[in-house]
Amino acid sequence: MNLKEVCETLSREIRKLVPYDRLAINLPEKDENYVRVYAEESRLPAAAIPEGLSVREGTATGWVLDHHEPVVCRDVLQDSRFPLTHKRYKGVGLRSYVILPLMAEGKALGALNLASLRPRCYGKKQVEILSPIAEILSVAVENSILYEGAQRREELQKLFKELSQDITSLDIDSLLKKLTEKVREILKVDVSDVRVFEAGRWILRGVSGIDSDLIPSARTGTAMGRSGWIIKHRRPLVIPDAAHEQNLPSGETIRSLGLRAYLAVPLFSRGGEVIGVLRALGYQPREFIPEEVDLLQQLANGAAIALENAKLFEEVQSKSRELESTNTRLNRLLGQQSALREIFSQINLVDMGPLLDQLTQQALSLLHADHAVLRLLSPDGTLRAVSLAGRGVERVQDRLLEFGKGRSTWIMENQRPLAIMDIHQDKVFGPAPLLQELGARGYLGVPLISRGQKSIGVLTVSTVREREFTEEEIALARQLASAAAVTIENARLFEEVQNKSAELEEAFKAKSAFLNTMAHELKTPLHVIVGMQQLLLEEAYGKITEEQKEALERIERNVRDLLSLIDEILELARLEVRRVPLHIEEFTVNEMIQGLESSLMPLAKEKGLELKFEIGAGIPPLKSDRSKISEILQNLLANAVKYTDEGKVELRVSLQHPDTDTQVGRVSWSVRDTGIGIRESDRPRLFEPFYMAEGVDRRKYPGTGLGLSIVKRLVELLEGDLQVESELGKGSTFTVTLPLAHTDGEAR
Ligand code: ADP
Repeated sequence: MNLKEVCETLSREIRKLVPYDRLAINLPEKDENYVRVYAEESRLPAAAIPEGLSVREGTATGWVLDHHEPVVCRDVLQDSRFPLTHKRYKGVGLRSYVILPLMAEGKALGALNLASLRPRCYGKKQVEILSPIAEILSVAVENSILYEGAQRREELQKLFKELSQDITSLDIDSLLKKLTEKVREILKVDVSDVRVFEAGRWILRGVSGIDSDLIPSARTGTAMGRSGWIIKHRRPLVIPDAAHEQNLPSGETIRSLGLRAYLAVPLFSRGGEVIGVLRALGYQPREFIPEEVDLLQQLANGAAIALENAKLFEEVQSKSRELESTNTRLNRLLGQQSALREIFSQINLVDMGPLLDQLTQQALSLLHADHAVLRLLSPDGTLRAVSLAGRGVERVQDRLLEFGKGRSTWIMENQRPLAIMDIHQDKVFGPAPLLQELGARGYLGVPLISRGQKSIGVLTVSTVREREFTEEEIALARQLASAAAVTIENARLFEEVQNKSAELEEAFKAKSAFLNTMAHELKTPLHVIVGMQQLLLEEAYGKITEEQKEALERIERNVRDLLSLIDEILELARLEVRRVPLHIEEFTVNEMIQGLESSLMPLAKEKGLELKFEIGAGIPPLKSDRSKISEILQNLLANAVKYTDEGKVELRVSLQHPDTDTQVGRVSWSVRDTGIGIRESDRPRLFEPFYMAEGVDRRKYPGTGLGLSIVKRLVELLEGDLQVESELGKGSTFTVTLPLAHTDGEAR
């Protein structure tokens, strides 16, 4: 029996004991200021509380809920308490009433209310009769509240499960879209959207219930509008009726769309910053109860995590790409090094002094200033004057400025010009000693910004008179500063190139150190995550549910994928700089095959594929790097298994005739599959790092695009040859041909 049915049954029983014309069971709303008529039995022609919802304050029911005691009113016409209740009762002709609290564990869950058209119907006796009935009702109400709570929790859990599955799929935009759909469904609102604050703009990332074009996505400025309010106050904003809300920042768009109910909650980053806003909007005015606000906040928290995950993932990917391009650049530099050396030995470009002097002279004359000083930040944290012009500047030539305070530091840190009419009036920095020594008053400073957008120095001009620099003059100073920055950067670059071999050697070292550190930096927290995840999984922190267990296992899988991605990047980088030694040993093809078979068979079996090894006759023992060949074949076979859904994967090993020139015998290893195949257009780029063939379903065939690039470099290292043949939809064959015997102990 549900609560409604219990109420109905009890109402009939009560009528036999205590007569009434209206019986109501009232429950407080979650929002403590309201009481809802939950069940009602009435013979009156009109409803006592037509809206079914009443404010709590000033009513008899409110008093009962607050004081946990019954109230008896013998005649509403002669009772001055509870004017609101009595006005309503008079309106429908009710004269007397009794209200009892429904109590559980010291809390009032609701009230039982009996009223009659006749005066003086209720007294002490009726209260005594009704008390045990109220107790039964209390139990029923309590049960139903618990039940509803459990049901709601279950619903929420289901929802979160659904959403968290999507979180790992990382397609953030469809996830956010789905989230807004769920918000509409659960909160029964017409429109929902999620906006994210990115690079100084609000970007609409997901919307449902309305055409996204109707919602302007990017209003600049964080402090504007209601979203600005949320950023500032860091909490949800509820507006039951936007049409009648004047105190809050305007919401023209909302109003012009005819939307009235408004609920918005912040998305917090891990660092606690507000990074976005999730909104629920309705065409009709309505209240949002605290539970609904909480729910939306929880959904927003989930969305924030998903957004951050996606960002992290992108960062890792772009880091990898960055590394890749550093590699290419360094390799190119190495190749061009000797050519460049010749060119640069002729010209003395490192001597940037004259160029810079020319620039400061220009600053002095074009800006009609009395002094111009160009300072560069030295590695020791001082600002050193590298070029000066003007009267008396030699006095400050050797004086160092300390980086970390003062105007110059401000300019460099903010990467903005600073113009001051009279430094003696400057309340922030005051007249600095060096400028005072020059007798300066008017001041303009602009930063020197490098291509990497770092401030490398500062150009200042000053005048002995007060001076207001115009916009044009400031722009001109910036141009001169940027010319100076380019000159300095070029000079530094040339210097770098001139220092050639040794420096490149250093760069390689630094790069591998950087790679190792980066890998370490990335791997350490990942290992910590796995460690914590294991502890949680082993219930070291307390019992966990099946769902939590699944989530933890998902975390582990994802982290392990990341770890192996990092390892692959590292390996690729090492191969790239040919820093990998070879370990030559003697072994037979059979020995090699055994290892491969045991590691790949389970995978093939799981997919129902046949895995075959065919070894040609007469292959002598090989003399080569066994583990590298094994890695090559592992990669090719694993791909073949991954990209094949039915049929077989086969490795054929055969001896090739000795090369007529070198007389070196070769072995060819051919991995053939009956899988999805590779388009002709993809083949040229297949061996590039991170390249993944187009049009392949990456949910079904996930990857990193690194395997084949590692294979290619390993094959090059072993002085072999790699070929691919394929037909889309039919299968692929990767053939590696390697020398039978390797003589070098070291890679080139
Ligand atoms: P990954 O498999 O991790 O994406 P690889 O560098 O090993 O990276 O492969 C690059 C791409 O080449 C793959 O993404 C896939 O599209 C394609 N590919 C590699 N091997 C096969 C194969 N045996 N059959 C079909 N496509 C393949």
